[in-house]
Amino acid sequence: MIKVSGLTKRYGEHRALNQVSFHIKKGEVVGLLGPNGAGKSTLLNILTGYIFANEGQVLVDGMDMMQSLIAVKRKIGFLPEKPPLYKDMTVKEYLLFVAELNGIAKKDRHQAMEKAAHHTGITHVIKRRIKNLSKGYCQRVGLSQALIGDKEILLLDEPTVGLDPKQIMDMRQLIQELSTTRTIIISSHILSEISVLCDSILLLNKGHMIAHEKVENMIKNALNIHQLILRLGLAGCDQETIIANIKCMEGVLDTYLVGTYESNTWDYSISVNKGYDIRTQLVALCHEKNYPLLMLQPTVLTLEEMFMKLTEEGGA
Ligand code: ADP
Ligand code: MG
Repeated sequence: MIKVSGLTKRYGEHRALNQVSFHIKKGEVVGLLGPNGAGKSTLLNILTGYIFANEGQVLVDGMDMMQSLIAVKRKIGFLPEKPPLYKDMTVKEYLLFVAELNGIAKKDRHQAMEKAAHHTGITHVIKRRIKNLSKGYCQRVGLSQALIGDKEILLLDEPTVGLDPKQIMDMRQLIQELSTTRTIIISSHILSEISVLCDSILLLNKGHMIAHEKVENMIKNALNIHQLILRLGLAGCDQETIIANIKCMEGVLDTYLVGTYESNTWDYSISVNKGYDIRTQLVALCHEKNYPLLMLQPTVLTLEEMFMKLTEEGGA
């Protein structure tokens, strides 16, 4: 449904996107994930035809964006980071105006407005002025605006930013309902949000696409590394020697000092490749060197930590 190849966007010397390529199938719900400044909004703005890339190609349902801009725009509903709401209009006036902008015939505008309002649960506020609505409702009006014209594709830029927890839950549920019949890209810097809503994740960091994977594969990959927390008493322990001793064990990816969680102790975090169990070796090491071993606990890498690891290593 959406095929992007070699997309590059420069702002002066700065590359907000660098050779980004991916392919999204019809009906897929994709999470566009990355820290602030990763290039998420830039990518969505290009996909909606709001700004243009310096290099690369975007195909939407087989149509080249540059050659068929209007036809492509007809297929795509967009909720920008800051929804373009006219605050003095009532919800109804605004949605009718959006319907007009979308080229919907005058006789059909009312129905289009009602349908979009119904979908997002704002029918009871359509006579109110937008400036008098809560942030959660403004966001829903923004989403209604994106739905007008029965768009097959929805692009939502950080749709839950600035909402309170209840509004976030409502917005997620709304997106879930919409996702049954549409292709959707949702950008977010919050991993947990993406993992509940999406089938797959596009991970962006500093303009580079560093992963495009099914959510369950991401979780599987996260599980491929396990972590141990080692707690040692301070007496007779030289941290650097300990770390060096652990780092040279087979299967160990990384070791570092985490901090103190109990007085006169240090916790070390050790990442180990799946397939290696170094616990017996660690106990033997502590015995041999007389390190006071107080705790040795396996933990799994959370998706959050996995995301941190990928974005630390990926972008440069
Ligand atoms: P995200 O949405 O992931 O937070 P953006 O796409 O907004 O990231 O921005 C990506 C990078 O491009 C950032 O470093 C940002 O400062 C820069 N950038 C975005 N828009 C502009 C612009 N209009 N002019 C110059 N730099 C920009
Ligand atoms: Mg953004």
